Amino acid sequence: GRRIGHYQLIRQIGKGGFAEVYLGRHIHLQTLVAVKVLHTSLQSSAVKKFRREAQLVAGLRHPNIVQVLDFGVADEAIPYLIMEYAQKGTLRQQIPSGTRLAPTRALAYLEQMAAALDFAHQARIVHRDVKPENMLLSDSGQLLLSDFGIATVIFDSINTATPDVAGTAAYMAPEQLRGKPQPASDQYALAVVAYEWLCGVRPFRGSFAEVAAQHLHTAPQPLRRHNPRLSPELEETVLIALSKNPAQRFP
Ligand code: ADP
Ligand code: MG
Ligand code: MG
Repeated sequence: GRRIGHYQLIRQIGKGGFAEVYLGRHIHLQTLVAVKVLHTSLQSSAVKKFRREAQLVAGLRHPNIVQVLDFGVADEAIPYLIMEYAQKGTLRQQIPSGTRLAPTRALAYLEQMAAALDFAHQARIVHRDVKPENMLLSDSGQLLLSDFGIATVIFDSINTATPDVAGTAAYMAPEQLRGKPQPASDQYALAVVAYEWLCGVRPFRGSFAEVAAQHLHTAPQPLRRHNPRLSPELEETVLIALSKNPAQRFP
């Protein structure tokens, strides 16, 4: 099979717009890892940027953030990232779209993601792509936020006219759609996830353009229209985090 750095690639476990993710094994230590390899070669300036971003993420050590273990550049142009392997896959795989979760379970997940984001924000890192596809379950059932920051470098350096962008509009804060992401944008995205888990439906639906227009201009339906058993306090909390104006969300 293919080998990258010290790692033997065993099988593909994921695929995104710009990268493929493989289960890998360290050829000497025999440890299992996740290997994320770009499938496009980059200009050297972009490789440098990518590496800087990897350095930032590698410095984040938190129980709810996927640990970056190593970084390398294959053939001088293809960056790869070695991460801890999350055996149970993503929350999107575990929870099919349209599934409503019990509030206690939703809150347990949300609390872990909020802790991860708070930690990243204190390190001045904005995730920008919070969604269930980027939340991984560890063997012990711990939730891990992944796919950190790296996306931004790639968005800047390759092209943004990829179908992959469309899937992400569902969670994008108004200011991020206007090109000005900030820490509060991650809070908004997490609130969309909360809405989805508590109601079984996302607040805004339709094509990329329709969803984007609603993020910008349409107030979300109160959560209890979808799920009358939710408490008013929980509904209000999610709606505050979904404020159009980032200054009106939680500090
Ligand atoms: P992209 O930036 O292309 O979205 P991701 O880092 O989100 O790439 O990885 C794509 C997919 O690969 C994830 O949605 C997940 O299914 C899988 N994956 C990524 N990292 C890991 C990991 N550390 N452990 C297990 N699976 C992973
Ligand atoms: Mg991803
Ligand atoms: Mg990504």
